[in-house]
Amino acid sequence: MAVERKRWQREFGDWFHQVIWESGLMDYRYPVKGCGVWLPYGFKLRNNVLNLMRRLLDETGHEETLFPLMITSDMVKKEAIHVKSFEDQLFWVTKAGDRKLDEELALRPTSETAIYPMMQLWIRSHADLPKRVYQVVNTFRYETKATRPLIRVREISTFKEAHTFHATFEEAERQVEEAVRIYSQFFDSLAIPYVVSKRPEWDKFPGALYSIAYDTVLPDGKVLQIGTVHNLAQNFSKAFDITFENAEGLREYVWQTCYGISERVIAALIAVHGDDKGLILPPGVAPIQAVVIPIPYKSKEAAVTEKSREIKKVLEKAGVRVWLDERDKLTPGSKFYEWELKGVPLRIEIGPRDLEFRNLTLVRRDTMEKFQVPEEEAASRVLETFSEIQSSLSRKASEWLRQRIHQAGNPEEAVALFREKQGIVEVGWCSKERCGLTWEEETGLQVLGIAWGETSLNGGVCPICGEKVGRVLRLGKPY
Ligand SMILES: [Zn+2]
Repeated sequence: MAVERKRWQREFGDWFHQVIWESGLMDYRYPVKGCGVWLPYGFKLRNNVLNLMRRLLDETGHEETLFPLMITSDMVKKEAIHVKSFEDQLFWVTKAGDRKLDEELALRPTSETAIYPMMQLWIRSHADLPKRVYQVVNTFRYETKATRPLIRVREISTFKEAHTFHATFEEAERQVEEAVRIYSQFFDSLAIPYVVSKRPEWDKFPGALYSIAYDTVLPDGKVLQIGTVHNLAQNFSKAFDITFENAEGLREYVWQTCYGISERVIAALIAVHGDDKGLILPPGVAPIQAVVIPIPYKSKEAAVTEKSREIKKVLEKAGVRVWLDERDKLTPGSKFYEWELKGVPLRIEIGPRDLEFRNLTLVRRDTMEKFQVPEEEAASRVLETFSEIQSSLSRKASEWLRQRIHQAGNPEEAVALFREKQGIVEVGWCSKERCGLTWEEETGLQVLGIAWGETSLNGGVCPICGEKVGRVLRLGKPY
Protein backbone atom coordinates (compact mmCIF):
# COMPACT_ATOMS: atom_id res chain seq x y z
CA MET A 1 0.00 0.00 0.00
CA ALA A 2 1.40 3.35 -1.01
CA VAL A 3 1.70 5.78 1.85
CA GLU A 4 0.43 9.21 0.92
CA ARG A 5 3.23 11.65 1.56
CA LYS A 6 2.58 15.22 2.55
CA ARG A 7 3.67 18.12 0.37
CA TRP A 8 6.29 19.07 3.00
CA GLN A 9 8.04 15.82 2.08
CA ARG A 10 6.90 15.23 -1.50
CA GLU A 11 7.97 18.64 -2.77
CA PHE A 12 10.41 19.50 -0.04
CA GLY A 13 12.52 21.92 -2.12
CA ASP A 14 9.55 24.06 -3.16
CA TRP A 15 7.99 23.84 0.28
CA PHE A 16 11.24 25.02 1.88
CA HIS A 17 11.66 28.02 -0.45
CA GLN A 18 8.07 29.04 -0.01
CA VAL A 19 7.84 28.65 3.75
CA ILE A 20 11.04 30.61 4.45
CA TRP A 21 9.67 33.60 2.63
CA GLU A 22 5.97 33.41 3.43
CA SER A 23 6.54 32.92 7.14
CA GLY A 24 8.70 36.05 7.25
CA LEU A 25 12.06 34.44 7.99
CA MET A 26 14.13 35.42 4.97
CA ASP A 27 13.95 37.02 1.56
CA TYR A 28 16.29 35.66 -1.08
CA ARG A 29 15.28 38.08 -3.84
CA TYR A 30 18.39 40.10 -3.05
CA PRO A 31 20.24 40.95 -6.29
CA VAL A 32 23.46 39.15 -5.31
CA LYS A 33 23.15 35.42 -5.89
CA GLY A 34 23.46 33.21 -2.84
CA CYS A 35 22.88 36.08 -0.39
CA GLY A 36 19.67 36.48 1.58
CA VAL A 37 18.08 39.01 3.91
CA TRP A 38 17.07 38.06 7.43
CA LEU A 39 13.62 39.57 7.99
CA PRO A 40 12.68 40.74 11.51
CA TYR A 41 10.87 37.52 12.45
CA GLY A 42 13.71 35.40 11.10
CA PHE A 43 16.31 37.56 12.79
CA LYS A 44 14.63 37.03 16.17
CA LEU A 45 14.62 33.29 15.63
CA ARG A 46 18.28 33.45 14.60
CA ASN A 47 19.13 35.37 17.78
CA ASN A 48 17.28 32.92 20.00
CA VAL A 49 19.14 30.01 18.44
CA LEU A 50 22.49 31.79 18.72
CA ASN A 51 21.85 32.76 22.32
CA LEU A 52 21.37 29.11 23.21
CA MET A 53 24.79 28.43 21.72
CA ARG A 54 26.36 31.48 23.39
CA ARG A 55 25.10 30.32 26.76
CA LEU A 56 26.56 26.85 26.29
CA LEU A 57 29.92 28.26 25.21
CA ASP A 58 30.11 30.97 27.87
CA GLU A 59 29.37 28.39 30.56
CA THR A 60 32.29 26.26 29.41
CA GLY A 61 35.06 28.83 29.41
CA HIS A 62 34.77 30.22 25.87
CA GLU A 63 35.03 33.96 25.29
CA GLU A 64 33.34 35.81 22.45
CA THR A 65 35.55 37.88 20.14
CA LEU A 66 35.29 39.56 16.76
CA PHE A 67 38.05 39.36 14.16
CA PRO A 68 38.19 41.35 10.92
CA LEU A 69 36.53 40.20 7.70
CA MET A 70 39.54 40.74 5.44
CA ILE A 71 42.70 38.69 5.40
CA THR A 72 45.91 39.29 3.47
CA SER A 73 47.05 36.92 0.77
CA ASP A 74 50.08 36.04 2.94
CA MET A 75 47.81 35.00 5.79
CA VAL A 76 45.71 32.90 3.43
CA LYS A 77 48.75 31.08 2.12
CA LYS A 78 50.20 30.05 5.49
CA GLU A 79 48.61 26.60 5.73
CA ALA A 80 49.03 24.94 2.34
CA ILE A 81 46.43 22.13 2.54
CA HIS A 82 43.92 24.48 4.10
CA VAL A 83 44.34 27.18 1.46
CA LYS A 84 44.26 24.72 -1.40
CA SER A 85 40.80 23.55 -0.48
CA PHE A 86 39.36 27.07 -0.39
CA GLU A 87 41.38 28.55 -3.27
CA ASP A 88 38.65 28.31 -5.91
CA GLN A 89 36.04 29.75 -3.57
CA LEU A 90 37.80 32.89 -2.33
CA PHE A 91 36.41 36.35 -2.99
CA TRP A 92 39.21 38.88 -3.50
CA VAL A 93 39.24 42.63 -2.93
CA THR A 94 41.69 44.00 -5.49
CA LYS A 95 40.87 47.70 -5.84
CA ALA A 96 40.03 50.74 -3.71
CA GLY A 97 38.25 53.14 -6.01
CA ASP A 98 40.43 53.27 -9.11
CA ARG A 99 43.62 52.33 -7.35
CA LYS A 100 44.80 48.81 -7.50
CA LEU A 101 45.68 47.58 -4.00
CA ASP A 102 49.35 46.84 -3.34
CA GLU A 103 48.24 43.84 -1.40
CA GLU A 104 45.11 41.98 -2.41
CA LEU A 105 42.73 41.09 0.40
CA ALA A 106 40.49 38.06 0.67
CA LEU A 107 37.11 37.83 2.40
CA ARG A 108 37.34 35.13 5.07
CA PRO A 109 36.04 31.73 3.92
CA THR A 110 36.47 30.70 7.58
CA SER A 111 38.65 32.42 10.19
CA GLU A 112 41.64 30.19 10.98
CA THR A 113 43.89 32.46 8.95
CA ALA A 114 42.51 35.60 10.65
CA ILE A 115 42.68 34.38 14.23
CA TYR A 116 45.91 32.40 14.33
CA PRO A 117 48.40 35.19 13.50
CA MET A 118 47.00 37.13 16.49
CA MET A 119 47.22 34.09 18.74
CA GLN A 120 50.85 33.89 17.74
CA LEU A 121 51.26 37.31 19.43
CA TRP A 122 49.07 36.63 22.44
CA ILE A 123 50.09 33.15 23.54
CA ARG A 124 53.39 33.32 25.44
CA SER A 125 53.51 30.72 28.16
CA HIS A 126 51.65 27.73 29.54
CA ALA A 127 49.89 30.18 31.87
CA ASP A 128 48.04 31.55 28.81
CA LEU A 129 46.59 28.11 28.07
CA PRO A 130 44.03 26.75 27.60
CA LYS A 131 42.48 29.53 25.57
CA ARG A 132 39.01 29.28 24.06
CA VAL A 133 37.49 31.93 21.82
CA TYR A 134 34.51 32.05 19.50
CA GLN A 135 32.82 34.45 17.16
CA VAL A 136 29.62 34.68 15.16
CA VAL A 137 30.36 36.22 11.77
CA ASN A 138 29.61 36.07 8.08
CA THR A 139 31.97 34.20 5.78
CA PHE A 140 32.18 34.10 2.01
CA ARG A 141 32.60 31.20 -0.38
CA TYR A 142 31.98 31.26 -4.08
CA GLU A 143 29.69 28.23 -4.38
CA THR A 144 29.60 26.98 -7.94
CA LYS A 145 26.85 24.44 -7.31
CA ALA A 146 23.26 25.70 -7.40
CA THR A 147 22.68 27.85 -4.33
CA ARG A 148 19.88 27.02 -1.90
CA PRO A 149 18.50 29.22 0.91
CA LEU A 150 20.25 28.62 4.26
CA ILE A 151 21.88 25.44 2.92
CA ARG A 152 24.22 26.39 0.10
CA VAL A 153 24.92 30.12 0.06
CA ARG A 154 27.75 32.42 -0.99
CA GLU A 155 27.53 34.62 2.07
CA ILE A 156 27.21 32.37 5.09
CA SER A 157 25.56 35.00 7.23
CA THR A 158 25.66 33.10 10.49
CA PHE A 159 28.89 31.27 11.10
CA LYS A 160 29.64 30.44 14.73
CA GLU A 161 33.22 29.26 14.99
CA ALA A 162 35.11 28.35 18.15
CA HIS A 163 38.89 28.02 18.30
CA THR A 164 40.77 26.53 21.24
CA PHE A 165 44.45 26.32 22.17
CA HIS A 166 46.02 23.79 24.52
CA ALA A 167 49.32 22.73 26.04
CA THR A 168 48.97 19.03 25.28
CA PHE A 169 47.41 16.66 22.77
CA GLU A 170 45.38 15.02 25.56
CA GLU A 171 43.88 18.37 26.52
CA ALA A 172 42.89 19.01 22.91
CA GLU A 173 41.30 15.56 22.80
CA ARG A 174 39.30 16.37 25.92
CA GLN A 175 38.23 19.63 24.29
CA VAL A 176 36.93 17.68 21.29
CA GLU A 177 34.84 15.58 23.68
CA GLU A 178 33.60 18.74 25.38
CA ALA A 179 32.67 20.27 22.01
CA VAL A 180 30.72 17.12 21.13
CA ARG A 181 28.88 17.41 24.46
CA ILE A 182 28.10 21.10 23.81
CA TYR A 183 26.84 20.48 20.30
CA SER A 184 24.75 17.50 21.36
CA GLN A 185 23.12 19.61 24.06
CA PHE A 186 22.54 22.41 21.54
CA PHE A 187 20.83 20.19 18.97
CA ASP A 188 18.87 18.40 21.70
CA SER A 189 17.44 21.68 22.91
CA LEU A 190 16.37 22.49 19.35
CA ALA A 191 14.82 19.01 19.08
CA ILE A 192 16.93 18.41 15.97
CA PRO A 193 17.87 14.72 15.68
CA TYR A 194 21.37 13.86 14.47
CA VAL A 195 24.02 11.23 14.04
CA VAL A 196 27.65 11.92 14.91
CA SER A 197 30.25 10.52 12.53
CA LYS A 198 33.98 10.77 12.16
CA ARG A 199 34.51 11.90 8.57
CA PRO A 200 36.77 9.68 6.47
CA GLU A 201 40.36 10.77 5.85
CA TRP A 202 39.52 11.91 2.33
CA ASP A 203 36.71 14.15 3.49
CA LYS A 204 38.05 15.75 6.66
CA PHE A 205 38.47 19.49 7.24
CA PRO A 206 41.56 20.60 5.32
CA GLY A 207 44.43 20.84 7.78
CA ALA A 208 42.73 18.83 10.54
CA LEU A 209 44.00 15.65 12.15
CA TYR A 210 40.40 14.42 12.06
CA SER A 211 36.89 15.84 11.77
CA ILE A 212 33.69 14.89 13.52
CA ALA A 213 30.41 15.88 11.94
CA TYR A 214 26.78 16.16 12.96
CA ASP A 215 24.40 15.06 10.21
CA THR A 216 20.64 15.04 10.04
CA VAL A 217 18.25 13.82 7.34
CA LEU A 218 15.90 16.27 5.63
CA PRO A 219 12.39 15.35 4.45
CA ASP A 220 13.69 14.64 0.92
CA GLY A 221 15.92 11.89 2.34
CA LYS A 222 19.17 13.78 1.79
CA VAL A 223 21.74 14.29 4.52
CA LEU A 224 22.54 17.75 5.84
CA GLN A 225 25.75 18.43 7.74
CA ILE A 226 24.78 20.78 10.58
CA GLY A 227 27.92 21.01 12.70
CA THR A 228 31.57 19.97 12.77
CA VAL A 229 34.29 19.54 15.38
CA HIS A 230 37.95 19.28 14.37
CA ASN A 231 41.10 18.26 16.14
CA LEU A 232 43.77 20.34 14.40
CA ALA A 233 46.69 18.85 16.35
CA GLN A 234 49.73 21.07 15.67
CA ASN A 235 49.15 21.48 11.93
CA PHE A 236 48.12 25.12 12.15
CA SER A 237 50.33 26.08 15.08
CA LYS A 238 53.35 24.95 13.06
CA ALA A 239 52.21 26.90 10.00
CA PHE A 240 51.44 30.03 12.05
CA ASP A 241 54.27 29.55 14.53
CA ILE A 242 52.03 29.61 17.61
CA THR A 243 54.27 28.48 20.46
CA PHE A 244 54.30 28.67 24.25
CA GLU A 245 56.91 28.23 26.93
CA ASN A 246 56.18 25.09 28.92
CA ALA A 247 56.78 24.62 32.66
CA GLU A 248 60.38 23.52 31.94
CA GLY A 249 61.06 26.72 30.01
CA LEU A 250 61.07 25.02 26.61
CA ARG A 251 59.13 26.31 23.59
CA GLU A 252 56.44 24.03 22.18
CA TYR A 253 53.78 24.34 19.52
CA VAL A 254 50.23 24.62 20.86
CA TRP A 255 47.58 21.96 20.21
CA GLN A 256 44.36 23.21 18.66
CA THR A 257 40.74 22.38 18.00
CA CYS A 258 38.00 24.27 16.21
CA TYR A 259 34.30 23.72 15.76
CA GLY A 260 31.50 25.42 13.90
CA ILE A 261 27.84 25.66 13.07
CA SER A 262 26.05 27.86 10.55
CA GLU A 263 22.54 28.91 9.49
CA ARG A 264 22.14 25.31 8.32
CA VAL A 265 21.01 24.71 11.89
CA ILE A 266 18.02 26.94 11.17
CA ALA A 267 17.46 25.13 7.87
CA ALA A 268 17.31 21.87 9.83
CA LEU A 269 15.01 23.40 12.45
CA ILE A 270 12.57 24.47 9.73
CA ALA A 271 12.81 21.26 7.71
CA VAL A 272 12.69 18.70 10.49
CA HIS A 273 9.69 20.10 12.37
CA GLY A 274 7.60 21.69 9.60
CA ASP A 275 4.42 20.42 7.96
CA ASP A 276 2.03 21.35 5.16
CA LYS A 277 0.73 24.32 7.14
CA GLY A 278 4.21 25.84 7.52
CA LEU A 279 6.74 26.17 10.32
CA ILE A 280 6.52 24.48 13.71
CA LEU A 281 8.97 26.14 16.08
CA PRO A 282 10.08 24.66 19.39
CA PRO A 283 8.91 26.95 22.23
CA GLY A 284 12.50 27.35 23.45
CA VAL A 285 13.49 29.44 20.42
CA ALA A 286 10.19 30.63 18.93
CA PRO A 287 10.20 34.46 18.61
CA ILE A 288 6.55 34.38 19.63
CA GLN A 289 5.68 31.47 21.89
CA ALA A 290 1.98 32.10 22.21
CA VAL A 291 -0.45 34.26 20.29
CA VAL A 292 -3.68 35.46 21.89
CA ILE A 293 -6.55 35.77 19.43
CA PRO A 294 -9.75 37.45 20.60
CA ILE A 295 -12.88 35.91 19.08
CA PRO A 296 -15.31 38.82 19.17
CA TYR A 297 -18.99 38.16 19.31
CA LYS A 298 -21.82 40.67 19.06
CA SER A 299 -22.20 42.79 22.19
CA LYS A 300 -19.27 40.92 23.82
CA GLU A 301 -16.46 42.70 21.92
CA ALA A 302 -15.34 44.94 24.77
CA ALA A 303 -15.30 42.12 27.33
CA VAL A 304 -13.34 39.83 24.98
CA THR A 305 -10.79 42.56 24.29
CA GLU A 306 -10.38 43.34 27.95
CA LYS A 307 -9.90 39.68 28.89
CA SER A 308 -7.41 39.16 26.04
CA ARG A 309 -5.27 42.07 27.23
CA GLU A 310 -5.40 40.82 30.78
CA ILE A 311 -4.25 37.31 29.75
CA LYS A 312 -1.45 38.80 27.68
CA LYS A 313 -0.18 40.66 30.76
CA VAL A 314 -0.41 37.57 32.94
CA LEU A 315 1.62 35.55 30.46
CA GLU A 316 4.20 38.29 29.97
CA LYS A 317 4.70 38.38 33.69
CA ALA A 318 5.37 34.64 33.63
CA GLY A 319 8.11 35.23 31.05
CA VAL A 320 6.17 34.04 27.99
CA ARG A 321 6.93 35.72 24.64
CA VAL A 322 3.30 36.49 23.85
CA TRP A 323 1.61 38.45 21.09
CA LEU A 324 -1.94 39.78 21.13
CA ASP A 325 -3.42 39.90 17.65
CA GLU A 326 -5.91 42.77 17.79
CA ARG A 327 -6.06 43.49 14.05
CA ASP A 328 -9.72 44.17 13.44
CA LYS A 329 -9.66 43.91 9.64
CA LEU A 330 -8.85 40.21 9.75
CA THR A 331 -11.15 37.33 10.64
CA PRO A 332 -10.01 34.94 13.38
CA GLY A 333 -9.70 32.26 10.68
CA SER A 334 -7.19 34.22 8.62
CA LYS A 335 -5.21 35.00 11.78
CA PHE A 336 -5.10 31.29 12.63
CA TYR A 337 -3.73 30.58 9.16
CA GLU A 338 -1.01 33.21 9.44
CA TRP A 339 0.23 32.19 12.90
CA GLU A 340 0.19 28.53 11.93
CA LEU A 341 2.37 29.38 8.93
CA LYS A 342 4.76 31.23 11.25
CA GLY A 343 4.98 28.20 13.52
CA VAL A 344 3.90 29.86 16.79
CA PRO A 345 3.78 26.91 19.22
CA LEU A 346 0.54 27.84 20.98
CA ARG A 347 -2.62 29.71 20.08
CA ILE A 348 -4.90 31.02 22.79
CA GLU A 349 -8.44 31.78 21.73
CA ILE A 350 -10.67 33.91 23.90
CA GLY A 351 -14.35 34.05 22.93
CA PRO A 352 -17.70 34.63 24.63
CA ARG A 353 -18.03 31.00 25.78
CA ASP A 354 -14.54 31.14 27.30
CA LEU A 355 -15.56 34.28 29.17
CA GLU A 356 -18.72 32.64 30.40
CA PHE A 357 -16.92 29.57 31.78
CA ARG A 358 -13.76 31.48 32.79
CA ASN A 359 -11.74 29.31 30.42
CA LEU A 360 -9.12 29.77 27.74
CA THR A 361 -9.04 27.69 24.57
CA LEU A 362 -5.54 26.48 23.73
CA VAL A 363 -4.49 25.06 20.36
CA ARG A 364 -1.12 23.35 19.97
CA ARG A 365 0.59 24.03 16.66
CA ASP A 366 2.44 20.71 16.56
CA THR A 367 -0.59 18.44 17.01
CA MET A 368 -3.38 20.98 16.34
CA GLU A 369 -4.95 19.58 19.50
CA LYS A 370 -7.53 21.93 21.03
CA PHE A 371 -8.38 22.03 24.73
CA GLN A 372 -9.70 24.29 27.50
CA VAL A 373 -7.87 25.36 30.61
CA PRO A 374 -9.19 27.37 33.59
CA GLU A 375 -8.36 31.06 33.25
CA GLU A 376 -6.70 31.30 36.67
CA GLU A 377 -4.24 28.57 35.66
CA ALA A 378 -3.28 30.37 32.44
CA ALA A 379 0.43 30.85 33.12
CA SER A 380 1.18 27.43 34.60
CA ARG A 381 -0.82 25.54 31.96
CA VAL A 382 0.80 27.47 29.12
CA LEU A 383 4.32 26.80 30.44
CA GLU A 384 3.43 23.16 31.00
CA THR A 385 2.14 22.90 27.42
CA PHE A 386 5.41 24.38 26.12
CA SER A 387 7.43 21.66 27.74
CA GLU A 388 5.02 19.02 26.39
CA ILE A 389 5.40 20.48 22.89
CA GLN A 390 9.17 20.55 23.24
CA SER A 391 9.45 16.91 24.28
CA SER A 392 6.87 15.77 21.78
CA LEU A 393 8.83 17.49 18.97
CA SER A 394 12.02 15.79 20.14
CA ARG A 395 10.38 12.39 20.28
CA LYS A 396 8.74 12.75 16.90
CA ALA A 397 11.90 14.01 15.22
CA SER A 398 14.16 11.32 16.72
CA GLU A 399 11.71 8.63 15.69
CA TRP A 400 11.60 10.12 12.20
CA LEU A 401 15.39 9.97 11.91
CA ARG A 402 15.55 6.49 13.42
CA GLN A 403 13.23 5.26 10.67
CA ARG A 404 15.62 6.67 8.09
CA ILE A 405 18.71 4.84 9.32
CA HIS A 406 19.03 1.36 7.83
CA GLN A 407 21.54 -1.47 8.18
CA ALA A 408 22.76 -3.31 5.11
CA GLY A 409 24.89 -6.45 4.76
CA ASN A 410 26.24 -5.80 1.25
CA PRO A 411 26.30 -3.11 -1.45
CA GLU A 412 23.22 -4.45 -3.31
CA GLU A 413 21.21 -4.38 -0.12
CA ALA A 414 22.46 -0.86 0.62
CA VAL A 415 21.37 0.32 -2.83
CA ALA A 416 17.94 -1.29 -2.50
CA LEU A 417 17.38 0.13 0.99
CA PHE A 418 18.41 3.58 -0.07
CA ARG A 419 16.24 3.49 -3.19
CA GLU A 420 13.23 2.57 -1.13
CA LYS A 421 13.77 4.59 2.02
CA GLN A 422 16.56 7.17 1.47
CA GLY A 423 18.28 8.53 4.56
CA ILE A 424 21.40 6.85 5.93
CA VAL A 425 22.61 3.30 5.34
CA GLU A 426 24.98 1.73 7.88
CA VAL A 427 27.35 -1.02 6.82
CA GLY A 428 30.27 -2.90 8.32
CA TRP A 429 33.71 -1.63 7.45
CA CYS A 430 37.25 -2.83 8.05
CA SER A 431 38.63 0.75 8.26
CA LYS A 432 40.64 0.50 5.01
CA GLU A 433 40.24 3.46 2.69
CA ARG A 434 40.11 1.17 -0.37
CA CYS A 435 37.01 -0.63 0.96
CA GLY A 436 35.39 2.68 1.94
CA LEU A 437 35.82 3.95 -1.60
CA THR A 438 34.49 0.65 -2.97
CA TRP A 439 31.34 1.17 -0.89
CA GLU A 440 30.96 4.56 -2.57
CA GLU A 441 31.55 3.19 -6.08
CA GLU A 442 29.24 0.23 -5.70
CA THR A 443 26.36 2.08 -4.08
CA GLY A 444 26.60 5.50 -5.70
CA LEU A 445 26.29 6.90 -2.18
CA GLN A 446 28.80 9.03 -0.31
CA VAL A 447 30.65 7.95 2.81
CA LEU A 448 29.51 10.15 5.70
CA GLY A 449 31.95 8.61 8.13
CA ILE A 450 32.35 6.19 10.97
CA ALA A 451 29.73 6.09 13.69
CA TRP A 452 31.26 8.09 16.55
CA GLY A 453 31.40 6.27 19.85
CA GLU A 454 30.19 2.94 18.43
CA THR A 455 32.49 0.20 17.29
CA SER A 456 30.87 -2.62 15.39
CA LEU A 457 27.89 -3.79 13.39
CA ASN A 458 26.62 -7.32 14.13
CA GLY A 459 30.20 -8.47 14.80
CA GLY A 460 30.46 -9.73 11.19
CA VAL A 461 33.05 -9.19 8.49
CA CYS A 462 33.71 -6.36 6.03
CA PRO A 463 31.40 -7.30 3.15
CA ILE A 464 33.94 -5.92 0.66
CA CYS A 465 37.20 -7.64 1.66
CA GLY A 466 36.03 -10.27 4.12
CA GLU A 467 38.17 -8.96 6.97
CA LYS A 468 36.78 -8.70 10.47
CA VAL A 469 34.58 -5.62 10.80
CA GLY A 470 36.00 -2.95 13.02
CA ARG A 471 33.64 -0.09 12.33
CA VAL A 472 30.20 1.04 11.31
CA LEU A 473 30.37 3.10 8.15
CA ARG A 474 27.55 5.46 7.24
CA LEU A 475 26.51 6.17 3.66
CA GLY A 476 24.07 8.70 2.27
CA LYS A 477 23.46 11.50 -0.20
CA PRO A 478 24.62 14.75 1.37
CA TYR A 479 23.63 18.26 0.35
ZN1 LIG B 1 37.32 -4.18 3.95
